[in-house]
Amino acid sequence: MLGPVILAASRSDRMRRLVSGAPVTKQVVDRFIPGETVDQIVPVVQDLTAKGLELTMDVVGEDITRPEQAAAARDAYLELIDRLKDLELGERAEMSVKLSLFGQALDGGHDLALANIRPVVEAAAAIGTTVTLDAEDHTTLDSMFAIHEELRRDFPETGCVIQSYLFRTEADARRLAANGSRVRLVKGAYKEPASVAYQHKSQIDRAYVRILRILMAGEGYPMVGSHDPRLISIAQELARRAGRKPDEYEFQMLYGIRSDEHLRLAAEGHRMRVYTAFGTDWYGYFMRRLAEKPANLRFFVRSMITK
Ligand code: FAD
Repeated sequence: MLGPVILAASRSDRMRRLVSGAPVTKQVVDRFIPGETVDQIVPVVQDLTAKGLELTMDVVGEDITRPEQAAAARDAYLELIDRLKDLELGERAEMSVKLSLFGQALDGGHDLALANIRPVVEAAAAIGTTVTLDAEDHTTLDSMFAIHEELRRDFPETGCVIQSYLFRTEADARRLAANGSRVRLVKGAYKEPASVAYQHKSQIDRAYVRILRILMAGEGYPMVGSHDPRLISIAQELARRAGRKPDEYEFQMLYGIRSDEHLRLAAEGHRMRVYTAFGTDWYGYFMRRLAEKPANLRFFVRSMITK
């Protein structure tokens, strides 16, 4: 019940001001977002990769209102990529990007987002890595897929995300699996209406398995984005049946969630990529993490009261 309320609050400017300005215990936010600057995040990258994990890096932020903010986001990714160059991690540290942070929702936003993301994809390719386009709410997806297709003309390894809660996603998976994309499958983290998305966990999970079957049997590179132990076992079984070797798919989880499982899967010889968010505009990302697990909200509220 709480999840949809928190998700609605995640798009509210009033709540954003209230929560962002609150004396939030730093520990609560740090659990999911382990740094605000490139200087703070580089040691985290070094620590995780030393443990045999791979990363996908996210500069937090979304729903910007001015083109200068999109340019600043682009520059933040370029600064990060420049620093990663010295670590020589190649594809062990890739980027995840929200197109709304690159201006997608502004006037002429589709072209603006494409113009802003291209230099990031080019810079990533120059250090031997790549970019994955995150999936946001359903109204943004046609534009996201069009930008993905455009980028893949020059950078075929550019990835994208699909969400099992949306009715459209099985068809998207068939198209993407047939053309050899890198595709991250997640359940979906936004508040979506019943006209476009399943509303019940059991339906979303069943759709996840159907879509995973399509991706594993297809010609692309599946990225299994979930912390759900049942879906992780099913993914391993589907990969085995499809004859995929350990380097022909990967698992992905969020920084701060089921961290023991990250290490366990990596130790078993799986590719395990940790989605690691950093930056100052953490509100939307943080609220979605609270919505996914109400126990996080109780912890958060307690920390505000006891401060
Ligand atoms: P759930 O059934 O929600 O969770 C399974 C178990 O994992 C829970 O029982 C709990 O133990 C643990 N868990 C899950 N979430 C939390 C949490 N916040 N705090 C503590 N424990 C938790 N969504 C998008 O819409 N677009 C994206 O681009 C996107 N990218 C993602 C990238 C990665 C690598 C991952 C892992 C997720 C991404 N998501 C994205 C979020 C996703 O849609 C889900 O909201 C999120 O992963 C929770 O679903 P789950 O599959 O882990 O299953």
